[in-house]
Amino acid sequence: MEDLLNLIGEHHIKFCWIDKSTVGSIDPSNDVIKISPYLLIAETLMHEMVHCQFPRLDEVETERRARSRIQRMTVKEIKRMVDFAIILGGKLC
Ligand SMILES: [Zn+2]
Repeated sequence: MEDLLNLIGEHHIKFCWIDKSTVGSIDPSNDVIKISPYLLIAETLMHEMVHCQFPRLDEVETERRARSRIQRMTVKEIKRMVDFAIILGGKLC
């Protein structure tokens, strides 16, 4: 675990929007790791919403539909959906 923490500590980590297809990236030229919390949450939320709507779908089809839905949304819609979920969900646990 310490080795992993040391490795993480050697990088600059930025939490920011990247694009609709990228939840994380690393630029080896400057050791910057970017992580997109909005997209991570949006993908997870949409995946679970597809499960709610279509409980008999398998994981592969659920994931395919969730990704398709996300890709059809605008960036503004994705961020709005996540903001709404955070408002509803309250605190992180
Ligand atoms: Zn699932």
